[in-house]
Amino acid sequence: MQNKLNIDDFIRPEIKQMSAYHVPVATGMVKLDAMENPFSWPPEMKDQWLELMASVEPNRYPDPAATELVVQLRECFAVDDELEVVLGNGSDELIQLIIMAMKKDVCVMAPTPSFVMYQHIAKSLGVEFVGVPLNGDFSLNMPAMLASIKQHQPAVIFLAYPNNPTANLFDDADLLAIIEASDGLVVIDEAYQPFADKSYLNQIKGLERVLVMRTVSKLGLAGLRLGFLVGAKQTLQQLEKIRLPYNINSFTQLTASFAFKHIDVLNAQAAVICQQREELLKTLTGFAGIRVFPSKANFILFTLLDDSAERVFEALKEAGLLIKKMGVVSGLPDNCLRVTVGSAEENVLFCKQLNIILNTK
Ligand SMILES: *Cc1c(COP(=O)(O)O)cnc(C)c1O
Repeated sequence: MQNKLNIDDFIRPEIKQMSAYHVPVATGMVKLDAMENPFSWPPEMKDQWLELMASVEPNRYPDPAATELVVQLRECFAVDDELEVVLGNGSDELIQLIIMAMKKDVCVMAPTPSFVMYQHIAKSLGVEFVGVPLNGDFSLNMPAMLASIKQHQPAVIFLAYPNNPTANLFDDADLLAIIEASDGLVVIDEAYQPFADKSYLNQIKGLERVLVMRTVSKLGLAGLRLGFLVGAKQTLQQLEKIRLPYNINSFTQLTASFAFKHIDVLNAQAAVICQQREELLKTLTGFAGIRVFPSKANFILFTLLDDSAERVFEALKEAGLLIKKMGVVSGLPDNCLRVTVGSAEENVLFCKQLNIILNTK
């Protein structure tokens, strides 16, 4: 029998050139690399949830429409009745769904640096990605954006609001000008909305071109894998056709419905994280040798002024603290590190270690 396979004969060249999305091993580390919420639930809430979990029938398929979850979600986030909701297995899957639905010869656009999945998923689907570098202060470079929109006519523009990894909100007038200038979809990715006090969710009725994307990951439910899109019915009805019928599993549906009924707990945790962010910003700003950027998210970006990002990252790791090394990214200063805001204890530990490392060369 012929049993050899030359996989290269069948894989698209652009996929051969890609590298897999790398997630470092974090066992036993203080995990400040992935914008997770560090807090658990009050014991009585956890008990109630466990009881609920016992009612799941793992032998049955989940509700394909996630009916109860959608009801709770609409109420929790006050989604207008005229707008449609599409659920994704994380917002990553929604990004994939949007790009997958587009014609093959279109392009997808986003400022750079921004969330890496926009580019990664576009590439994986054989769709061209156009990145437009941000200004030095991480605001949108509007002349470049507008020229690029005119030249490339993107089918989709992704705008992370606040942006990852730069942690800032874009200027609202700039956002509106981009919506105005574009003929295609504009997706406002509000993954960090719980920490930003700003949202377009209540402003998109009648704006057919705009979708708002949210995730529960950064709010404190990263393990569930649940994201959602809100927007005009005629747009989302098309995307709904290619959503896989059981993409939101039974455990996630029930857990998210439960969590939305207890949204006060999650919102209170987000408020603590915002307080902690301000503390952390204050402390880090006092450190010599680094430049700290403002943040409206649950993470802080800073740059090492003496090219020592690699050394500092490794020394932190050695001390049991995992943060994110940004590497060379277009539109970002070299030598940037990104730290997630953790619990008060974690942040104190991080600052203490960083201070030691910055003072030993
Ligand atoms: C983390 C993040 C996401 C991904 O969220 P998931 O729902 O966990 O897939 C989307 N957009 C931005 C900007 C993010 O930082």
